[in-house]
Amino acid sequence: MTAADVDDSIVADDPLTGMDAASFEAFVGEVAQFRDTVVAPNVNRWESEKRMAPEALREASAIGLLAMEVPAERGGLGMSFAQKCRIVEVLSAVSMPFAFSLVNTGNVAARVARLGSDTHRERYLADLMAGRRFGSTALTEPGAGSDFANIATTATPVDGGWRLDGAKAWITNAAHSDVIFCYAQTQPGSRGRGIALFLIDGTQPGFERLPPYELAGGHLIGTGGFRLDGYIAAAEDLLSPAGEAFIAALSSVNGARTYVAAMCCAMVEATLASAVRYGAEREAFGRPVIAHQGLAWKLAGVQNRLEASQLLTARAVDAVTESLRTGDASGAILPAAHAKKFATETAEADIAACIQAMGAEGLRSDHPGGHHLIGARIANYVDGSTEIQTDRIARSLAATYAAS
Ligand SMILES: Cc1cc2nc3c(=O)[nH]c(=O)nc-3n(C[C@H](O)[C@H](O)[C@H](O)COP(=O)(O)OP(=O)(O)OC[C@H]3O[C@@H](n4cnc5c(N)ncnc54)[C@H](O)[C@@H]3O)c2cc1C
Repeated sequence: MTAADVDDSIVADDPLTGMDAASFEAFVGEVAQFRDTVVAPNVNRWESEKRMAPEALREASAIGLLAMEVPAERGGLGMSFAQKCRIVEVLSAVSMPFAFSLVNTGNVAARVARLGSDTHRERYLADLMAGRRFGSTALTEPGAGSDFANIATTATPVDGGWRLDGAKAWITNAAHSDVIFCYAQTQPGSRGRGIALFLIDGTQPGFERLPPYELAGGHLIGTGGFRLDGYIAAAEDLLSPAGEAFIAALSSVNGARTYVAAMCCAMVEATLASAVRYGAEREAFGRPVIAHQGLAWKLAGVQNRLEASQLLTARAVDAVTESLRTGDASGAILPAAHAKKFATETAEADIAACIQAMGAEGLRSDHPGGHHLIGARIANYVDGSTEIQTDRIARSLAATYAAS
């Protein structure tokens, strides 16, 4: 079990139905308009300012984007998992880092709605859905990433609750978030068995936010860390006890891997569209560059792998939906691993190929390729690195072929 076997992203109200089809299609149009008017004109500026965009997340909340999987009776949109994947694709066509930040707060809102106590819902839910507060899910630490069972943040029982000490690193939205699903070890030395899940409030004593990271790009994710030093969590802030949290986390990571794969499909499609349009206009040796077979075949290869990524992602969406229906996540592990591995690896190579097909022009920031290349790089880490997906697949081989 690894870090990345764990995320807490899937909290669909009714994974099989969600919004009705007509309302959903109208919503997709609203999201595309929000993307084109709020995100697209500003994404390069935010990136050059090296920051998250809380103001844009607040605007997103006005159309419900921070409450996609919050049940309708609690003020959310009550979307299905498949619908959420479609929405993150729409947003990722312009900015995967923005979509990733948004979906992380949305995941926390959905989990507060479903798992939190009445006090948690009263204290946090409306603020999360309105973008007045932001959410994170914190597994990774300075000393433990892929090997999540090795986390060193401790949770020690005290009168009326728990005392938490430790540090978290590489946390999405940490630049601004203060409603945090935080994993901690209750029985040092016991690895996954002792890990429990707490709801942490970053406005409380004992929480110290660390400066966000300067990265090669992708600052819209707001990645950073925090320290817990004698942070006291009330008894009701223990959301999932030792013995359950690790396994519950394992069963929910498939959804995150699947929507990351969907994000990659959107980034490749947008970059390919840009390369094809440019190649039809730009001439070299007396004809449009796309009329040169060597270039057209390269882009045909990108399209071919994109279709494969889309099919693998669609299969993973179906498998995750089925796992939500049955409560058995085992059937989604491999489809999600295959989708994420293939989509992230091909996205990185194919976005670079599209940039190359545009010549030097492809590097300019008014084309999508550069931002998407960083998005694809990031996708290779989040919710389980590419190697961890490969390892999942490798571990299935013997069972798959044992009988043959
Ligand atoms: C932008 C960004 C946002 C993130 N957001 C979050 C978040 O919100 N919450 C959170 O908890 N974490 C988050 N992460 C952390 C992410 O989950 C980790 O980066 C990831 O799990 C890998 O851990 P690591 O970086 O510590 O690499 P390590 O675990 O140190 O691994 C180093 C290298 O070794 C490889 N490796 C490790 N184990 C094996 C193995 N068994 N076999 C083969 N290769 C192996 C890895 O794939 C990697 O290439 C984020 C990361 C990034 C970059």
